[in-house]
This record gives sequence, C-alpha cells and structure tokens, in this order.
Amino acid sequence: MNAVECRDIWMVYRNFMEEPFTALKGISLEIGEGEVYCILGPNGAGKTTLISILSTILIPTRGEVRILGMDALRQTKEVRRRINISSGTRLPWGMRVYEILRFYALAYGISDKNVVDRALAEFELEKYRDLRFDELSAGNRQKLNLARAFINDPEVVFLDEPTANLDPDIARKVREMVLGIKEERNVTLILTTHNMGEAEMLADRIAFIKNGEIVAEGTSDELKRFV
Ligand code: ADP
Ligand code: ADP
Repeated sequence: MNAVECRDIWMVYRNFMEEPFTALKGISLEIGEGEVYCILGPNGAGKTTLISILSTILIPTRGEVRILGMDALRQTKEVRRRINISSGTRLPWGMRVYEILRFYALAYGISDKNVVDRALAEFELEKYRDLRFDELSAGNRQKLNLARAFINDPEVVFLDEPTANLDPDIARKVREMVLGIKEERNVTLILTTHNMGEAEMLADRIAFIKNGEIVAEGTSDELKRFV
C-alpha cells in the first residue's frame, strides 16, 4: 500500500473579477511508506497548492487523493488523525513553548505530559520551554513547528518549505533535524522546496514541478541527468 497517492489532480482557482487560474494540471503520484518525497520547483509552480491538497487542507477541482489506503476527500477526519502538517511559522503568539506543544497534544487527545517532554528533548527545545513564541528565534520557531507536527506520532508528515526564510546555518540545522527524524521514526515525509540542494540532501525521490505539471520524477541522480 502506498502512504500517499493521487490521480489526475486539477486545481483551478476562481476569484471574483479575475480569470480562473489553473494551478495544477493533472498531477498523479505515488509515495511509498517510509519514503521521503520532495516536491521541488520554482516559486509559483504549484508546490503549496499540491501539498495542501495532498494533506487535506485544500479540495481539488478534480482528482482523487488516497492516504494510508483511505479516500482523503471522504474519510478526512480519520486521515487527519494519522497525518500532520507543518506550514509556515505561525503559532499562537503569546503562548510558551511547552504550552503550545501541550495544546496541540491535547487537540489529539494526548494528555500524557511525557509526550511533550519527549518532543522538547527530540527537537532540542528544552532550554526554551518557558519562552513565549514571540520571544523565539526563527530557527527555534521552526523547530517548534516540527515538534508540533510530530506530536501525534503521525504516519505521514507534510512539510511545506521547512527551511524557507531561514539563515543558511539554521536551514542546515533544520535539514539535519529532518534527516534525524527520518532515521529514528517510522514515518513518510513529503516536503516542498525550491532548493535543489535541499531536495538532494533529504529526498529519496523528487518530483520536479513547473507550471502545475510534474516535468520529471526520480531519485536525485536520475533528475540530474534530466536537468
Ligand atoms: P508555489 O508554492 O510553488 O510557490 P503556489 O501553489 O503557492 O506555488 O501557487 C501556484 C500558483 O497559483 C501561483 O501562480 C499563485 O499565484 C496561484 N495561487 C495560489 N493560491 C491562489 C489563490 N488562492 N487564488 C488564486 N491564485 C492562487
Ligand atoms: P507560497 O509562496 O509559500 O505559496 P504565497 O505568498 O504565494 O506563499 O501565498 C500565500 C497565500 O496567498 C496562500 O494562502 C496562497 O494560497 C495565497 N495566494 C497566492 N497567490 C494568490 C493569488 N494570486 N490570489 C489569491 N491568493 C493567492
């Protein structure tokens, strides 16, 4: 069974007084369990649109999405219990690090405080547990975002541009953290990036997307031959 698959996904954005815009044009892909799959492409290619659809945040105009054997458009509630998403770095501004993790754990019905403590340790946030979100550096905000995205021990995690807007050193740290997660957890990771080096470092397979279409797919070696 594939962890995530989609067939012939189309997305047409329709805004008042604007021409409809076709952001995705018949995307199909299959992602195996335990795979790290990277959606790579330039700004505006449709990466956020695609990962939002795959992670049940956005409903496509047409097409089918299956996650862990379930129909993601019909069994959304069940699917959402077993996946998680990290997108952007917006979290409750005035809350403290441990409060934020506890809050999201409780949202999944997890009241065991050890779960929060383990997340703080795994994502190197113990020192910052009593700081408020607005007091954190960009790197620690992103670590907290990752910790939050793994709090329900998800089987599939979607990371939208996990290193966007981070300084190179901090971006490297976040990449190492993602590699550590891949080693230690039995999880399927799907991430977007516009950075080829990042895709190469993290991904088992890469889909290169341009103007809403997958123009190449394969390992980084296979893709280099194509590009
Ligand atoms: P990427 O993540 O690769 O930068 P996006 O998926 O964010 O690409 O956007 C793909 C295209 O769809 C862009 O041209 C963007 O302007 C457009 N787009 C994204 N969201 C909307 C929306 N809500 N309404 C209209 N157009 C949108
Ligand atoms: P990203 O590059 O990470 O996709 P953007 O700044 O392009 O982020 O988009 C931020 C938000 O604005 C998203 O929710 C996206 O759907 C929306 N958006 C992007 N382009 C458009 C557009 N042309 N019209 C309306 N909303 C848009």
